[in-house]
Amino acid sequence: MRIKFWGVRGSTPTAQAENLRYGGNTSCVEVRVGQNVYIFDCGTGFRTLGNSLREEFGESPIAAHVFVSHFHWDHIQGIPFCGPLYDRAENDFRFHCSSRTRTLKQVMQEQMSAPYFPVETKEMKARHHYHDFDPGTVPLGEVTVRALWLNHPQGCMGFRLETRDGIFVYATDNEPGDAQFDKNVRKLAEGADVLVYDAQYLPEEYEARRRGWGHSHWREAVNVVMQSGAKELVLFHHDPDHDDACIDKVVKQARNYYPKVRAAAEGMEIVLPARKSQFAP
Ligand SMILES: [Zn+2]
Ligand SMILES: [Zn+2]
Repeated sequence: MRIKFWGVRGSTPTAQAENLRYGGNTSCVEVRVGQNVYIFDCGTGFRTLGNSLREEFGESPIAAHVFVSHFHWDHIQGIPFCGPLYDRAENDFRFHCSSRTRTLKQVMQEQMSAPYFPVETKEMKARHHYHDFDPGTVPLGEVTVRALWLNHPQGCMGFRLETRDGIFVYATDNEPGDAQFDKNVRKLAEGADVLVYDAQYLPEEYEARRRGWGHSHWREAVNVVMQSGAKELVLFHHDPDHDDACIDKVVKQARNYYPKVRAAAEGMEIVLPARKSQFAP
């Protein structure tokens, strides 16, 4: 399994020099398992991922499963700018998300319409299917995806991707403090190899003025990784006002409590070596 981070910022893209070592694009993470492509969220990092897929696949068709946690801008804004969606009918994107508040098809059509955007979804030549994905388990051939609700205004889903090579968990946009949701996030993260978790605020910022905004902080991220038995913690969804120096400091502080912590950075890759199937001869 190879995990690559294309967008790590929360709330809004931040194209400012002091943020660029960690990166300014909003949420988008790509996971490869064998030949298969899984994408988590479509923030502005989805555009650069699209460019990279185009370059890699050349004339061959691109197929991907795309999991959308919720519809806030920082998780969908890259969709209109993802080149492979427009290129050719052979490209195949399967979007999975909950339609509890609205379907993704509606959201995309509304986002890509006058006066907000001059190109409509009908210009997308690629096949794009929408699958309703409510909490539960979906087997997708060689992997299984489990989803649970997180604690966030207007709702957000966390995802757990179980593969032969290990378990990847993507749980962002989650505020601690609600017993059921706290339980959900620990259940998702249980025994994971890699846990990507919302660490938008500093604990002191959260306490002083960010309660009820739907996000977490690095101290809670450390609690989640330790209480769930996940192996590695990746701090994610960095606050737009946190520059590189601030995130460096957060990582250092978090490592005082748990050694296997790093902060997501654009372009960063994590590789879990391929394991042989237990059924293989
Ligand atoms: Zn967000
Ligand atoms: Zn959000």
